[in-house]
Amino acid sequence: MIGTDLLRSWMGRFAELVAEHEKELTELDSAIGDADHGANMVRGTRAVVDAFAAHPDDDIPALAKQAGMAMLSKVGGTSGPLYGTLFMSFGKALADVEEVDAKAFAEALRAGLNALVLRGRTNLEDKTMVDALSPALNTLTERIHAGDEFAAALAAARRAAEQGRDDTVAMIARKGRASYLGERSVGHMDPGAASSALLVRALEEVA
Ligand SMILES: [Mg+2]
Repeated sequence: MIGTDLLRSWMGRFAELVAEHEKELTELDSAIGDADHGANMVRGTRAVVDAFAAHPDDDIPALAKQAGMAMLSKVGGTSGPLYGTLFMSFGKALADVEEVDAKAFAEALRAGLNALVLRGRTNLEDKTMVDALSPALNTLTERIHAGDEFAAALAAARRAAEQGRDDTVAMIARKGRASYLGERSVGHMDPGAASSALLVRALEEVA
């Protein structure tokens, strides 16, 4: 069974990875955006860690809500609302689940992604976070249903996220600031896909 310790260590590791990759995220956002994704994500993930520390007794849905609110209030641009929606809808999906197992966890992540897609009105191949998260969660669900252990399924999901992230390089941006560049966005990796791949990697590393 999965407990709050996993969510806490996941977000803690995510914050570390974001801090380690801040410069890279900023460089990606300088090429096709406004050069703030690194700083924004560092501020947001630190706020999540602080919110968790301030709520030692919260359950998974309550912590996920804290994470979502922290990202929403601290991360500028479109990434804040999208990460916020992902985490809050993930938490809501687990509100009535007594014992969270790998399958319920993966389904809740899927609910979070579905909400993110609705909120961002974004589709696959728009060169966004969705291009990393969607293949990752498809793989996670497939592997869990095929009987893989959570850790093995997450390793496959992380590889799918990184492949999806890399695939954004060849895409034309159709959402956000990068979409103003049109064809000139081709050849650059999407910063949101890059930070999303770190989110999946963090989960793999702590699970
Ligand atoms: Mg930006």
